[in-house]
Amino acid sequence: MDRIDGVLGSLPGELYTSDPDVTARYLTDFRRFRTGATRAVLRPRTTAEVQRIVALCAAHGVPLVPQGGNTSYCAAATPSASGEELVLSLERLNAIRAIDPGNLSLTAEAGCVLSVLQEAADAAGLMLPLDLGARQSCQIGGNLSTNAGGISVLKYGMARDLVLGLEAVLPDGQRLDVLQPLRKNNTGYDVKQMLLGAEGTLGVITAVSLKLARKPAQTVTAFLAIDNIDVLTDILARAQILTGENITSFEYISHHSLALLLAAQQELRHPLETPSAHYVLMEAQSCSPVLALEDAVGQLLEELMGEGQVTDGTLAASAQQRDALWYLREHIPEAEVANGGSVKHDVSVPTSALPAFITRASALVETQSEGGRLSIYGHVGDGNVHFNVVAPEGAAPATYKPWFEREVSPRLYDLAVAMGGSFGAEYGIGIIKLDLLDRYGDPAKRHMMRAIKAALDPANLMNPGKVVRA
Ligand SMILES: Cc1cc2nc3c(=O)[nH]c(=O)nc-3n(C[C@H](O)[C@H](O)[C@H](O)COP(=O)(O)OP(=O)(O)OC[C@H]3O[C@@H](n4cnc5c(N)ncnc54)[C@H](O)[C@@H]3O)c2cc1C
Repeated sequence: MDRIDGVLGSLPGELYTSDPDVTARYLTDFRRFRTGATRAVLRPRTTAEVQRIVALCAAHGVPLVPQGGNTSYCAAATPSASGEELVLSLERLNAIRAIDPGNLSLTAEAGCVLSVLQEAADAAGLMLPLDLGARQSCQIGGNLSTNAGGISVLKYGMARDLVLGLEAVLPDGQRLDVLQPLRKNNTGYDVKQMLLGAEGTLGVITAVSLKLARKPAQTVTAFLAIDNIDVLTDILARAQILTGENITSFEYISHHSLALLLAAQQELRHPLETPSAHYVLMEAQSCSPVLALEDAVGQLLEELMGEGQVTDGTLAASAQQRDALWYLREHIPEAEVANGGSVKHDVSVPTSALPAFITRASALVETQSEGGRLSIYGHVGDGNVHFNVVAPEGAAPATYKPWFEREVSPRLYDLAVAMGGSFGAEYGIGIIKLDLLDRYGDPAKRHMMRAIKAALDPANLMNPGKVVRA
């Protein structure tokens, strides 16, 4: 009997599956970078079952790979090819434990799908402000483990900023219970923060208490055309002032990204009459039914168009029109896939430096890779841009992409870092960005990460090979 048999032999059969037809769907990451192997997928339904599994794995020295919705962009939830790791799926740990409208909080288990929690908050007359394109399949435990960003960070912050309390199982099987939904709790180290963004390397998140927000009574959505990218952050500042800091999203879309999407999905229409080099999808929301939000955005558009900063613009007149505008923003990645996929650079710089980064990085690609098709979009207010490059027309993506990653991507990361930025804004490290962390990560920070990992998981059993090198 080997170590894995030792674990599986001690568990009831309903807690895991070894059927290769079932386990296959847990083995390849969303972007198909890696396919691993496993002898079983463990599927606990309660925190006590997670504790039992983790303690057994610790006793037998068997590594575990926690997996949520498996939408990681960095292959962070994919087991190695060795077959020696077990996958721990949180999908059946999915109860909503409490919603407290008076406390503006929701407590739910880690396997809850994000959209299910959004709907539950909505049914309680409130809103869960975390939102991202993978909402129908990512799980809240995965969102917290990657400290996900998304489209509402500008007003509500990253996933980390929404956490009031956390329950988790530590690598030795102990249960950490700091789940109380408290806004003030200064009682020593804020240990829950360590598990947020740790990508499953320090323990298994089993439940969370999250901040809710009041539901918007008004939403104003605008699509703007801008010729000169340098004014992008000035426009955001003016929008914030006129709306009283009520801009929830300020999403940049380059002409190239929109063109790629309109070509890939020909039933779509350009939302504006006058095409431009740059676009912004801007949304303002307020829970106040009396604040004159639409007037504020209308005045902003009038001023900006009068000054020539915005060359064209439209306001969504209905929920359908709003959805149509957001469809354009959220389906750019599909257009990239339809063109053979892209080399992605998820970088951030100080918001004030974002226009200059886009200009300088675009020029760099144009000189280094003739015909490389830029697809740039992202979250201006967070200083985070998805600076993606699609193979030139006629070039084979399978040859072009590795070449670009080797020859040009390092220069783009160098540029972002030289401008005070980061090589990894919101997708995390996983396996894919370990080299970048080695190259750009502060040495003292990497030392602390290794020390924390060694202290909490000395046998390196929690998601080994991700985020921290053994
Ligand atoms: C269409 C699309 C759009 C996206 N948009 C965004 C975006 O706007 N912003 C953004 O930040 N990301 C985005 N992502 C990336 C991804 O969706 C997020 O990183 C998401 O938060 C991952 O959640 P998941 O449940 O799929 O986690 P998984 O992919 O299953 O796991 C991610 C990591 O978390 C760990 N993990 C999962 N659950 C637990 C748990 N309960 N306890 C401990 N560790 C755990 C895993 O081991 C792994 O390291 C997008 C992805 C897609 C496919």
